[in-house]
Amino acid sequence: MTTTYRPLTEQEAIEIARTIEGIFPEGADLKSREIGDGNLNLVFHITDPASGSSLIMKQALPYAKVVGESWPLTLDRARIESESLILQNKLAPGLVPQVYRYDAALALTVMEDLSSHVIMRRGLMDTIDYPLFADHISTFLARTLFLTSDLGMNQQEKKLLVRDFINPELCKITEELIFDDPYTDAETNNIPAPIRDAVEAIWQDGELQFEVALLRQKFLTSAEALLHGDLHTGSIFITPESTKVIDPEFAYYGPMGFDIGAVIGNLLLNFAAQEHWSSDADARARYRTNLLTMIESIWTQFETKFRALWNEQSVDRLASAAPGYQDFYMKRLLQDTIGFAGCKMVRRVYGLAHVADIDAITDETVREKAQRLALAIGTALIRGNRQAETIGHVIDIVKKEG
Ligand code: ADP
Ligand code: MG
Ligand code: MG
Ligand code: MG
Repeated sequence: MTTTYRPLTEQEAIEIARTIEGIFPEGADLKSREIGDGNLNLVFHITDPASGSSLIMKQALPYAKVVGESWPLTLDRARIESESLILQNKLAPGLVPQVYRYDAALALTVMEDLSSHVIMRRGLMDTIDYPLFADHISTFLARTLFLTSDLGMNQQEKKLLVRDFINPELCKITEELIFDDPYTDAETNNIPAPIRDAVEAIWQDGELQFEVALLRQKFLTSAEALLHGDLHTGSIFITPESTKVIDPEFAYYGPMGFDIGAVIGNLLLNFAAQEHWSSDADARARYRTNLLTMIESIWTQFETKFRALWNEQSVDRLASAAPGYQDFYMKRLLQDTIGFAGCKMVRRVYGLAHVADIDAITDETVREKAQRLALAIGTALIRGNRQAETIGHVIDIVKKEG
């Protein structure tokens, strides 16, 4: 195998796939198809039609391409991705793809093929029900966050993980696209013309920007736990029975609420977009109610599982002994979650990268309605985050705006 980096061709991907033990029979006639969106990474789907065996090879590209522009981007994110997948699989078994090999020189992760699942964003657009998702994702969040925090692991070992996942380039992208650019007339914004007035109102809203500045400070300085860092519904593979989290190349030590908020914010973006995806008013009301129940259940189950880990496995004597500390901690984490959920929503309406839930809406009037609803919910979540006492705060906001 080579030791110098180059983007692989489909034929080279096949040759490497042959060297992964225990997947394909000797001499199999392998097929390769590049299925990535090609902006940051190549994704090869390698199959043996005869045996039905398959695997995925994800290779980082040394640049990012967005709307025609191209800028250099570290290949080290492939290490971050493969190392966090391996760690997450230890902490939350079965909830991420299995990694078969990481090749540092090629910035390549070879992993389990999850083509039997669909990307959750697509599944939600198709109004599929996922009754087990709240259970699965709350387990993933509680275990990966608690067990990489100072509550759940030795402080010295944690510091070494902070160092290994420092990830400055990808954090910079997040900081700009989520916490900075949407709040000013930045070139990167991609503003839908019909909602220009709502966007300009946000640029004038000092109270909102104050809350975003507080949340941004947490994103920049609060090394609570090893985050996934990009946990939107496009990073989740799902079926009604199974959930698998993919694509942790943005992983770094940050505030726990950033991951939980990413999930909730993306479910609310879909809620807003049900304006279009539901077939009629009854179906819409039913699906939206299910989404809100799912959000409530994600937080409630997360809290129960996180507190159980704390009560059973804490390595932090003072945090466990100080009266009221756990309750205070959980409330602050809920507030962070709500604030970050709002930030995730706002940037997806008119920042650089939108979501298909909203952008794929064909009727302009319906699309505008969904955009305005997503902005109304997102900004209300940001504004009120520090007043929230329970997850019911989110449900109340959605019911008021929706
Ligand atoms: P990027 O970082 O470029 O967004 P992703 O890891 O999200 O890359 O993968 C891009 C797409 O490739 C996914 O949306 C999915 O369609 C496909 N893909 C990625 N990983 C797998 C996998 N383990 N099994 C099947 N398909 C995958
Ligand atoms: Mg800036
Ligand atoms: Mg992705
Ligand atoms: Mg990615």
